Amino acid sequence: MNQIAPRVLCTVVLAILIGRPFSNSVQAADSADRMTYAQAKARIPQRQLPEFWVGDVKGLADRFEKLARGTARVITVSPGGRPIHLVTYGVKEPLQQKANFNSAIGGRLPSAYMDKDARKKPVVFFVGPVHGHEVEALTGLVNLIEIMEAGKDLRGRDQRPLQELGSQCRLLIVPAGNPDGTARFEPRSLQGFEQNDLRFWGQGTWSDDGLCGWPQVKRQHPLVGDNVGFVGCYFDDAGINPMHDEFFAPMGPEAPAILKIAREEGPDLAVSLHSHEPAPALLRPAYLPKAVQQDVRTLAERCFALLEQRNLPHNGLPEVGAEDQEMPSAFNLTSALYHISGTTSFTFECPHGLKGSCEVTHEQILDIQLTLYEAMLRHELDKKK
Ligand SMILES: [Zn+2]
Repeated sequence: MNQIAPRVLCTVVLAILIGRPFSNSVQAADSADRMTYAQAKARIPQRQLPEFWVGDVKGLADRFEKLARGTARVITVSPGGRPIHLVTYGVKEPLQQKANFNSAIGGRLPSAYMDKDARKKPVVFFVGPVHGHEVEALTGLVNLIEIMEAGKDLRGRDQRPLQELGSQCRLLIVPAGNPDGTARFEPRSLQGFEQNDLRFWGQGTWSDDGLCGWPQVKRQHPLVGDNVGFVGCYFDDAGINPMHDEFFAPMGPEAPAILKIAREEGPDLAVSLHSHEPAPALLRPAYLPKAVQQDVRTLAERCFALLEQRNLPHNGLPEVGAEDQEMPSAFNLTSALYHISGTTSFTFECPHGLKGSCEVTHEQILDIQLTLYEAMLRHELDKKK
């Protein structure tokens, strides 16, 4: 999750209205919001998740070893000793690289980094959940891999049109960007859960069992120390949130491995896949040129039109803008993807299907993911026409 949750926003607005100073404490904003690990576990219902749902990193390595059309390799290992895979489809077209991206821009010649227009196929980079509990994208990407292998998704549904689109591109897929966080995520899906379950499993608790909450959980990084209780699935086993790694002096292995792929491949389009409470959203990428932000907005229009055709929900379009707010946006992994490779990069937020917010089913979550991927592929293929 990267957006301002309505409830948190209300707290901020209320504090301003009544003139109360907004606390900088890293403790939970509302001390009544507590949950122990035992309570969180007891709230997980006995249920059978759908066969097509992938909410765990167990079994991924075996699955990727058996690929017939795609190629899988391990790009790094997490602090918890878990491999992070890159699965690719389509050959890499060789391009001369004379400069890194920011020097090429300084030289006023982006093609000195990579002459992307010379490629026949667009390169599209899918970065799976760097927030471990946001497994909607893990499910989506493992299904995409199955589609590229067999022309059908894990429901057995014919997806040859999407396979055909994918085969006209080079696809770079990191199915699980934070396997430590995903391994810690015991519910395997938050569909049908409540907001406090998301807060427990996503952001975790302080040592007094108070829910860390958002954005307070970002005020201590790495998230380690005596005041930490349950480490939420935002974080790897060393307490690093890859979305907010220190990109100029990395703290964890995940973000640098993802950025290395971007630097070497120079994708045309890259997405960091996340999940949140409301309807599907493409977020405005911060610290990107307005023309690139506009490209994301155009993609969002296409994605939302497809979602509407399929009776699936969506949020409003991202605005194009500058970093001139009183509290500017963070320079995060999505920003870094652009600044290392010139890619159009954006964050996608999929609904978890929580009770009382955007109540989508597991089926609909998979359809939302696949619809986004289709919109992305069509968006880039149209530019090659
Ligand atoms: Zn997230």
